[in-house]
Amino acid sequence: MIAVIKPSATAEQKAGLVDWIRSQGVGVHVSEGHDYTVLGLIGDTSRIDMELIASLDIVDSVKRVAEPFKQCSRKFHPDDTVVDVGGVKIGGGHFAMIAGPCSVESREQIIAVAQAVKDAGAKLLRGGAFKPRTSPYSFQGLKDEGIELLLEAKKATGLPIVTEIMNANDLPLFEEVDVIQVGARNMQNFDLLKELGRTGKAILLKRGLANTLQELLLSAENIMIGGNARIILCERGIRTFETHTRNTLDLSAVPALHEMTHLPVVVDPSHATGQARLVEPMALAAAACGADGLMIEVHNDPIHALCDGAQSLTCAQFAGTARKVRAIRGALQ
Ligand code: PEP
Ligand code: MN
Repeated sequence: MIAVIKPSATAEQKAGLVDWIRSQGVGVHVSEGHDYTVLGLIGDTSRIDMELIASLDIVDSVKRVAEPFKQCSRKFHPDDTVVDVGGVKIGGGHFAMIAGPCSVESREQIIAVAQAVKDAGAKLLRGGAFKPRTSPYSFQGLKDEGIELLLEAKKATGLPIVTEIMNANDLPLFEEVDVIQVGARNMQNFDLLKELGRTGKAILLKRGLANTLQELLLSAENIMIGGNARIILCERGIRTFETHTRNTLDLSAVPALHEMTHLPVVVDPSHATGQARLVEPMALAAAACGADGLMIEVHNDPIHALCDGAQSLTCAQFAGTARKVRAIRGALQ
């Protein structure tokens, strides 16, 4: 971190700031120029509040040289992390499709969709049991019964399962869940993230509705500091001024995150667009820009879905999309 001090600062003010920074356990290299003084902060500056220093009257500007995230940074870990979920690998050249309904609704529904997406080439089954719904009057999910049904679908098909947690108190129910999803609305639920960091579970961490890539990686860091590095990041669109689509899919996040971090990055074109007919083109674009996987909502009867029917592909549509995704992946190799 570098802090540029204004020419108007007195020697006493500068010394006071240097002493304070040193008291935070960080070294300071002072470089006196003709007009400005530049302080170079040396060591672990992740504990230093950059905004606090920038707000001081004597400070002209502050710049971070190193990222505030460490364990998920590619600088600290140059090789790609490969997350292995029951033999299904994601990252480091391994690509996996995660597919299934927004919500688990019934045994018939989840088993039918699980079988269909498996036949189409999906490697993991998704399905929400605990649903974060904006309206308290909307379907809230089947909760523990939904997890039981997912486990039945896993048994029937062999597909590992991915499902969302909203509250750390529910963790005992996730014992046999293969990948625990942290949804966009909980990306900055730091207590939940830290609790998940103490488990050995693979975590699918979705980007928040209005969060930067740096914030996403700091959330991943909150999991990693507990010792759990089995994290898959998910770009699922962010809120912008555009309202035609449900969200705006930030596909540049994929190559940008690959530069910033060693963690795998998957793309969810379903929540990103909100419209079934836009899902396939964005899935193909995501595969083309190097995503390590896709998460796609698929329903056996989208018109009657209890949640997110408009963005759900039919099983036949998913099979067609999966085929084209494989063609794109083949063309890249
Ligand atoms: C979901 O995947 O079912 C979901 C609620 O997604 P998001 O958190 O991205 O809105
Ligand atoms: Mn959904």
